[in-house]
Amino acid sequence: MQNSSQTTLETFSAVSRRRFITAASLTAAALMFAPRRLLAADDGIVGNIKAAAATNKIIVQPLRGNVSVVMGSGGNIAVLPGPDGKLLIDAGIAVSRPGITEALASISDDPIKHLVNTHWHFDHTDGNKWLRDAGATIIAQEITRKRLSVRHRVEGWRFTFPPAPKGALPSVVFKNNLTLDLNGASIALDYYEPAHTDCDISVYFPEADVLHVADTWWNGVYPFIDYSTGGNIDGMINATEANLARTTNETIIIPGHGPVGNKSQLIEFRDMLVATRENVSALKESGASLERTISAKPTAAFDEKWGQWVTTPQAFTTLIYQGV
Ligand SMILES: [Zn+2]
Repeated sequence: MQNSSQTTLETFSAVSRRRFITAASLTAAALMFAPRRLLAADDGIVGNIKAAAATNKIIVQPLRGNVSVVMGSGGNIAVLPGPDGKLLIDAGIAVSRPGITEALASISDDPIKHLVNTHWHFDHTDGNKWLRDAGATIIAQEITRKRLSVRHRVEGWRFTFPPAPKGALPSVVFKNNLTLDLNGASIALDYYEPAHTDCDISVYFPEADVLHVADTWWNGVYPFIDYSTGGNIDGMINATEANLARTTNETIIIPGHGPVGNKSQLIEFRDMLVATRENVSALKESGASLERTISAKPTAAFDEKWGQWVTTPQAFTTLIYQGV
């Protein structure tokens, strides 16, 4: 690891807001360092992410209208407390239970009552079992439940996931959309067409104007796209266009990974996806093999900013090549 999470967290002990945001994004970076060799012959990625989560400090960032985000354990977790009990969007990684418990207690005394999974990936669902035991009803798109129920090989991570234990499965599922009326908010859950996987959903808090877009957005880094369970580059672009169409410059946007952001950062992400897709597609159409496409560096203009974390330029090129 180039930046251990420990170093990042010691850096975080300071307090200015600027520092806070930097540290939060670095924590996300630290989480993602382990799988740097994505698509390489390495099956330690998932174990490394879990190990990083075990030592990461869990950070709470208040957003607006009582919505907060808890960062440092897998995907970003949104939290809405209130008289109906806490609602969590995503579950993080089970080993982070003590840190997440502490973070949730710092938000309010309300018990945990509802958990929404934005998709089936382990860094968003690994905490399902303990959260259900703590009192949460688990809600997800129907394909998330199906995928969690059976064994899955994710080629991009070179890892085979066993079926989740029964208590970790969502008990409430929906197909296209569902509204949750909780804690004075009407929270809208909406299914995307296949994008990062085939079961991604967004979660919108209209009163606070906060949108959690799950892993359709990785703020500041190349995204992972899970072709093993239905994801593809064009779906990622379509999901990003859909996210842009429903947000304004005032909307606070929570990505699956990376710091909380805004519409202009999401536009930059869309532009990066479109440009790199076009470059890779042109090379593939001209007959270039994957190896030749990678050596032509079709993502070069973006690598310095976007290629520093989990998905390397080579890995990202490979993910696009698969889908064009
Ligand atoms: Zn994911």
